[in-house]
Amino acid sequence: MSEEGAEALVGLGSNLDGPARQIETALGMLDAIEHTSVVAASSLYRSAPLGGIEQPDFVNAVALLTTGLGARMLLEQLQAIERSRGRERGEIHWGPRVLDLDLLAFGALSIDEPGLTVPHPGIASRNFVLLPLREIVPDFEIPGLGRVRDLPVNDSEPRISRLALQE
Ligand code: ATP
Ligand code: CA
Ligand code: CA
Repeated sequence: MSEEGAEALVGLGSNLDGPARQIETALGMLDAIEHTSVVAASSLYRSAPLGGIEQPDFVNAVALLTTGLGARMLLEQLQAIERSRGRERGEIHWGPRVLDLDLLAFGALSIDEPGLTVPHPGIASRNFVLLPLREIVPDFEIPGLGRVRDLPVNDSEPRISRLALQE
């Protein structure tokens, strides 16, 4: 089903309970959000965890959505999906999680409100976001940062690799 509306970029991550399968399941759930369609999804990538906590590697991907929802409503839907997959609130920041859905960008909007910052502040420093974004939306203009294809990959961040096969 195609929907008129804003283009939204969502970052997906998981490092528990079959991460690759969690990402695939989440993509289906994104497409099932009301007035929302998944237009494109990247390959899956494996990345080392941020923050120095001993935990499994993450599997990451990004998706391009079109949505008739506003940014705040879309974030609420993302959080509802996280909860439905067993994400616990109050867990360690940057600790292991079954599913993390970040709203990376919402059209040309810049939002800085309690609980919602768009574009997501981690984009420019995270290879596990930049590389999958390049794959699906090289021409997307991220407010305040510029075009995805022009954003430099950060060499001081852990290297990531594309998953060859589903796990
Ligand atoms: P990071 O945001 O650095 O990737 P995280 O994903 O581990 O860290 P969470 O614990 O998932 O952080 O989210 C913390 C809070 O971030 C959420 O309660 C949410 O309200 C807020 N938040 C602000 N902006 C965004 C956004 N663009 N996408 C997702 N969450 C956001
Ligand atoms: Ca995150
Ligand atoms: Ca998050």
